[in-house]
Parts: sequence; C-alpha cells; structure tokens
Amino acid sequence: MAQAKKKTAAQEKPKAQAKEAKVKEAPPKEEKPKKKILLVASEALPFVKTGGLADVAAALPKALNADGYDCRVVMPLYYDIPDDFKHTMRCLGNVYVPLAWRNQYCGVFTQTYEGITYYFLDNEYYFKRRGLYGHYDDGERFAFFSKAVLESMSVTGFYPDIIHANDWHTALVPVYLDVFYRGIPQLNGVKTIFTIHNIQFQGQYGDSIISDVLGIPADRASLVMYKGCANFMKGAIECSNIVTTVSPTYAGEILDPYYGYEMEDILRQRSYKLRGIVNGIDTVKNDPAADKALFVNYDLANFGKKVENKLALQRMLGLPENKDAAMIGMVGRLTEQKGLDLVAAVLENIMQLPVQLVILGQGDWRYEETFKRAQNDHTAKLRCVLGFSADLASKIYGGSDMFLMPSKFEPCGLSQLIAMRYGSVPIVRETGGLKDTVHPYNHDTGEGNGLTFYSYNAYDMLDAVQRAVGLYRDFKGDWAKVVANGMSGDYSWAATAKKYEEIYETV
Ligand code: ADP
Repeated sequence: MAQAKKKTAAQEKPKAQAKEAKVKEAPPKEEKPKKKILLVASEALPFVKTGGLADVAAALPKALNADGYDCRVVMPLYYDIPDDFKHTMRCLGNVYVPLAWRNQYCGVFTQTYEGITYYFLDNEYYFKRRGLYGHYDDGERFAFFSKAVLESMSVTGFYPDIIHANDWHTALVPVYLDVFYRGIPQLNGVKTIFTIHNIQFQGQYGDSIISDVLGIPADRASLVMYKGCANFMKGAIECSNIVTTVSPTYAGEILDPYYGYEMEDILRQRSYKLRGIVNGIDTVKNDPAADKALFVNYDLANFGKKVENKLALQRMLGLPENKDAAMIGMVGRLTEQKGLDLVAAVLENIMQLPVQLVILGQGDWRYEETFKRAQNDHTAKLRCVLGFSADLASKIYGGSDMFLMPSKFEPCGLSQLIAMRYGSVPIVRETGGLKDTVHPYNHDTGEGNGLTFYSYNAYDMLDAVQRAVGLYRDFKGDWAKVVANGMSGDYSWAATAKKYEEIYETV
C-alpha cells in the first residue's frame, strides 16, 4: 500500500510543484466546532415588535451566524404575527408541556427568514389573543412558553450548547433547566446566558404561583422567591451562568436602588457574573441611502438631500413647510421611562423656539392625551401621531434635524443610534446606553456626536434643546461636524456580536 502511494502523480512533478503539493497536503487547521445557540425571545423582527428587544433578536443571530455560529431563535406563535408569515411556516410536530397540574399542548412550527431558523411555539389558549403582553395571566403564559422551549427540543432536535434568554418573559428557561431538565444527557452541560433589556419588568407575582402555576417544588422555590414574591427575573439571575445587560453604564446603574427597581440587592450579590454589552443596529435595514420609507435617500456625501425629507414630512403632517425650522423628532414608547414628564413640563418653552416637534409613539394614556391635546394649541409646531408605524418612524429619523430622548433610564436605546445614522442629532440624558453611545459635542475639539444633559430635570433638558437649536441655526460648521460624527459612527452588530461571542466561548 505504501509502495503504491509513493508512485502518485504529485511525486513525479517538478520539485517546486511537489513542494506546493506538500503545503497543500499539510493537515487542515483544527476548526472549532460551531457552537449552537438558542436565543429565546418574546418578540423578534420581522414577526412582531413592541420595542428594541425585537431588533436585537433579529440582528444578533445574523451577526453570530456570519461568524460561524449556529444561532436559532424560538418565540411564541402569537396571533399578531402577520398571516403571510403564518402561511409559510412548517409544522414540525407537537409536544405536551407539564405546568404544575396542567398538561398543555404545544405545536412546534418553523420558518427560515434571512438565513436564520426560527421556531414558533403554539398554544391558542395562551397566544391567540391581540397584543403580546398585558394579559391577566401573563405569568402563566410565559411560564408555559419557557417550559415549552425545553420540551420542544425533542421535536426540533436542536439541542444547543448555550441557551440565551432575554427579559422576564423567558427568565424561567434557565430555572426550569436547572430544576427539571439537567438529567437529559443533551441538556446536562448546556450553559445559560440571561440578558436584561429592561429591569423594570421582572415578572413579579404572589408566591402561590410557584406551586400552582410554575410547578416548582417547594425545596427549589427559593430560586424564584425574592422580597416576599415570586420573581421570574430573580430566578434567571440565580440560575444563569452569565447575566448581561445592554450597556456597561446600565450594568453599573442597576446596582443602585434608583435604577435597580429592587433588583439591586441580588445583582450586587451576583455582580461577578454581570456584564454590559451595548446593542448594535441593523445597519443594512437602517440605512438612509437605501431606506425605501424615505422620501429621498441620502448619505453623508449627499447630506444636502436630507432637507427634502423634512419638507415632505412637513407636507405629509400638515405642518408649515419651512426648511429653516429645526425639526425635533421623537419615536418611542410613550411611557415614564422615556422622560416624557420632562418634555410635558417644558413643552410651552420648547414651542417658543424656532422648532417643530414631531412625536410618534403609543403607550400610557396620560402622555398620549397630553401631547394630543397640546397639538391643538400648537398646530403650526407640534404633531403627535399615536400608533406604531415603522414607515413613519423612518420618515421622522430621515426628516428631523435632531432627536430628543431624555430618558429617565435607558438600558441601551436603539432610537438614538438610528437617529445618528440618519443624521438626526441626538439630545439625550446621560444615562445607561445613551451615555455610552452619545458623547457631547465639544466645540474646541470638534469631537462628539450629540448634545447631552445629566440631571433628570426639565430645565436641564430644555437647556440642551436650546443649545442644539442654537448650534443648528448659528454655527452651521459645528452642526455639520456633529452630524458627520454621528453618521460616520459604527453602530453595526459586527463589533457587538464579538463581545457576546467572547462570553459564549468562555462561559
Ligand atoms: P425600547 O426598547 O425601550 O422601546 P429602544 O430605543 O431600544 O427602546 O428601541 C425602540 C425601537 O422601536 C426603535 O427601533 C424605534 O424606532 C422603534 N419604535 C418605538 N416606538 C415606535 C413606534 N411607535 N412606531 C415605530 N417604531 C417604533
């Protein structure tokens, strides 16, 4: 056999070629096996979205898979998912999910979208309702979903190396894994990451839920008990190998009672496993040069065209067409978190400035009412559109000169990143991810990509708005610089995903 091998064609080639062949024959570099990651999320684009989590659940898997991982996403099969998607899903089978004394059906569906495999877990009793959240039995719905994630693996056959759960809705996945599923050989060594996108919502319930709904035995109940209640998020903090949140500043802030929403005590005890990683945005989808929702596409080189978007937006919303009015945009949930109390408190002062303010959002009745009503008093300057519209959101990012985001707390914030990409200068409070991504413009050095203020104080915010308007009107050179600094920043997931990869590799 060895003799026969010696007489190969390669050996008869001239020396140089033989050398080359030798190089080629060198044993291939040992390739690391692809890590399998299951991202568990309660919402993901393009299927359903109420906030930034949906963007993350779509973009992170894409970036990870581009780096050689096999990341898949699992989410509930909501009624609100558009029919077009539902019609193209494939049923893989079903499984029954034990939940305390219940035994609930779970259909398992799949679909591949933009190269990512999504799994959808179906139970019409829990998910055939309008609206993703806010139902009387959300605790039970998401406990079911979390357990179904683990049960459904016998149907999908996808046993990950790492389960990455997000926010309270999926916080019971690492808990159930530890309490019930470690005996299954494929799940024995699975590592768990839990990401806090918003600590305000923790999944808090009376302790009777533990035995009656969650079905967690009394001797393990302490995993989810916290300050006299059952708390899903606390369970995830206890059971996960690593806990992350979506910016380094927020990771520090949530150890403080002002930001921690009572979670600071357990987080301080477990701070050795807490990390902060800033989110990215999908820079292909959020690209002013290609976004089809814009009236006119532009980029930094053609920045002059941006004003066409402002004029068209003014026309569309019935505002006076005025290219010189500084247009301030706001897009987001109308909730206390987003600092709307500050805006409401000094709205009259803002309306005295040479500005137009366009607000798109939905949320708490009190804010919806305040801004809707104020619109009647300021018909030439203020528009408040209630609802969720990705199309109008793009038009506001593209049409506005500045973007106001005075959040009371902001774990990361995507809107300010999108705004910068669209050349709308962010005016933000220095908190959480806003502090990590928006740096105050410095006239002397020409550095900085926005305007900021520190205290949660309406007049400090007003001062920042006034400074922005002043810069926009009277210091065109500085304005061009701050816009350019924002537009040329790297907000892609590529860099961010690397930080998650570091965790996946070392956990
Ligand atoms: P949060 O996750 O706290 O809601 P983020 O800033 O992280 O806030 O993400 C909000 C995302 O949702 C952004 O992409 C923003 O454009 C989008 N968004 C928020 N409200 C609306 C709305 N009413 N219509 C369209 N898009 C919205």
